[in-house]
Amino acid sequence: MKLILTCEHASNRLPASFKKFVPTDIQETHRAYDIGALAVFRKLVNFAKPEFSCEGKFSRLFVDLNRTITNKSAFSEYYGELETRNKAAAEKAKAAAIKYWMEYRENIEKFVMSNIDKGTKASGNKGAAIVHLGIHSFTPVLNGKPRNTDIGILYDPARPLERKYAQVIKDEIKRLHPHMKVRFNYPYKGTSDGLTTSLRKKFGPHYVGIEIEINQKFFI
Ligand SMILES: [Zn+2]
Repeated sequence: MKLILTCEHASNRLPASFKKFVPTDIQETHRAYDIGALAVFRKLVNFAKPEFSCEGKFSRLFVDLNRTITNKSAFSEYYGELETRNKAAAEKAKAAAIKYWMEYRENIEKFVMSNIDKGTKASGNKGAAIVHLGIHSFTPVLNGKPRNTDIGILYDPARPLERKYAQVIKDEIKRLHPHMKVRFNYPYKGTSDGLTTSLRKKFGPHYVGIEIEINQKFFI
């Protein structure tokens, strides 16, 4: 089995041409990136030494690496303003964003592609060939409502291997930190549009894709 660690929303960086269309205060908020996720991701990379890891280099306001590129929400509302002011610049920014998105996805897919068959065979066609953990964080209060969970574990409940690994992760967190509130598929569903959802479709049941969502109250 090979381990992959990724952090799609690691950065709030914006390309210079696009940056001026995003209010400065927004650039510092959870809208722009997953606060605290990069620090956790780096610790995990050092600790677990995954066979493959990568992190987003730009803010999701430029393009969301955790959305299908044909999903309208991959692009933030700030493209609208840029389009009104300068259509050519908006198109150029979008083309650069798509290229960046493609490269990010292709790198991960290449690694999965070249390891999935070998790993499946090695597991006797029973176990995981790839375990992919995506590291994310969520804002503690959304639209005035507090989110009463410390860590969310997102997976597809219809997939037996993901059920198994999600349970192992939950048990281990609870063993180390019994007071922590850990919930499955909260604050989002593991089956929503995202990187793991797209990799599941492409690579089948021996790819295990789990997202770890950490409450940002630990970092702010
Ligand atoms: Zn995220």
